[in-house]
Amino acid sequence: MKAVVYEATRRVGVHDVEDAAIEEPTDVVVRVSSSAICGTDLHMFDGRTGAEPGLVIGHEPLGVIEQVGEAVRSVKKGERVVIPTHLFCGICFNCARGYTAACLRVRPGSFGAAYGYAGMGSYRGAQAELLRVPFADANCVRVPGEPFDAREDDFAMLADAFVTGWHATELAMMEPGCTVAVFGAFTVGLLAAYSALLRGASEVYVVDYVPERLDKAGELGATPVNFEDGDPVEQIRELRRRRGLPIGEEPMDGVQKGIDAVGFQARDRRDTTRENPTQVVSDLARLVNPTGHVAIAGVYAEKDLLPAPEGSADGHLQVPWATFFNKGISVNFGRTNDRRYTTRLRDLVVAGRAHPGTIVTHHGTLDDAPSFYDRFDRRADGVVKAILRPCRP
Ligand SMILES: [Zn+2]
Ligand SMILES: [Zn+2]
Repeated sequence: MKAVVYEATRRVGVHDVEDAAIEEPTDVVVRVSSSAICGTDLHMFDGRTGAEPGLVIGHEPLGVIEQVGEAVRSVKKGERVVIPTHLFCGICFNCARGYTAACLRVRPGSFGAAYGYAGMGSYRGAQAELLRVPFADANCVRVPGEPFDAREDDFAMLADAFVTGWHATELAMMEPGCTVAVFGAFTVGLLAAYSALLRGASEVYVVDYVPERLDKAGELGATPVNFEDGDPVEQIRELRRRRGLPIGEEPMDGVQKGIDAVGFQARDRRDTTRENPTQVVSDLARLVNPTGHVAIAGVYAEKDLLPAPEGSADGHLQVPWATFFNKGISVNFGRTNDRRYTTRLRDLVVAGRAHPGTIVTHHGTLDDAPSFYDRFDRRADGVVKAILRPCRP
C-alpha cells in the first residue's frame, strides 16, 4: 500500500510499504477515505521529536472497515468509521474511568498511544491507504453515509481536531456566557473557538499572525486578533472595553477562559522568525481574569531535539506560577480523552448543528503530501487544514 513516510527533517515521501493487516483478533483494517494533516505532524516534520525515518505518519483517519478480526463484535465489514487519534483498550483502569488518552495497555511500560507519532507507541500512521486499528470495538466510531458525501470533511474532523478543540473548552471549564481567548488559530485553536461558541460563550477572541487563519476564525464567528498589530493582551482588553464590559464585571477587562492551542513551538511576538515556548503561557497569565481558567491543549514535548533559546530539551520551562496563584487561576493540561466526546460531536454534525469541516482549505491525494507538508510548515498558500484522500485517484 502507499503511505506517507517521514524521511528526514522537513522531508516526507510517499512510499510503498507492507499492507496493514490483522495482527490480533481484536483488530480491524480500515480503508482510509480521508486522512488529515495536523499541526502536531509538523513537530515531527520539523525534526523536533525524534521521529525515526520510515515512520508512517498521520493520526486523523476516516474510512470504511475492510477486514475484521474474529473477536470483534460491534462493527462489521463495510461500515464507515472515524478512528480517534489516541488509541485505547476501553477496559483498563484509566479507560474505564473515561481517561482513554492514558490507557494503560496500549503502550507497555508507559501510558497512552497514538497512530504514527514519535514516542507514542509503535502504531503505524493513518496517512496511508490502509490502517490497522487495534481494540477495534473501542476505537471504531461509526458514522452514517458514504465516503466522499457532503459530510466527509466534518466527519474527518472527529478523529482529532474537533474533539481536541472541544476538549480544550472542557479543560477551560466552559460556562455559558463566558469570555474566551484562544491563542493559536491552527486547526485545534479554530475548533476550540468554534466549540466555545457552540457552548454559549459570549465573546471569543482568537490570537494568531497568519492572515488566512485569522480570516477562518472570523468566518467561524470569533473575533480575530493579530499579534503583529501589537500586544494581544492589550488589544483584547481594549476590544472588551470598547464593546462594553458586563454589569458588575467592570474591574475585570481580561477574559475568563484562556486556551493555549499552540504549545512549545510558540512564536516570539517581537520576532516571529523565532520561537519562544513560554510566550503564550505568559500572555495568558496576564490576560485571564482572577478566578479564571487556563487550558493547555497545545503540545509540550518532553523531548525537543532543537530547543529554542528560551526552551529546553526536556520541556522544563520558566512560567509565571505566582501570577496564576495570585489570581486563583486553574491550569488544566492534557491530551484528549477522545471517546468522551466523539459520539456526541458526531451527533451534532449529523443533526446539522456543527460543521467543523468549514476549516478545511485543501484536498489532495497521498502524492500531494510532500507539497502540503512543505506549504503548511511555511504557513504558505493559505493552507489551514489539508486532507489527503488516499483511495480517490
Ligand atoms: Zn491531529
Ligand atoms: Zn485502556
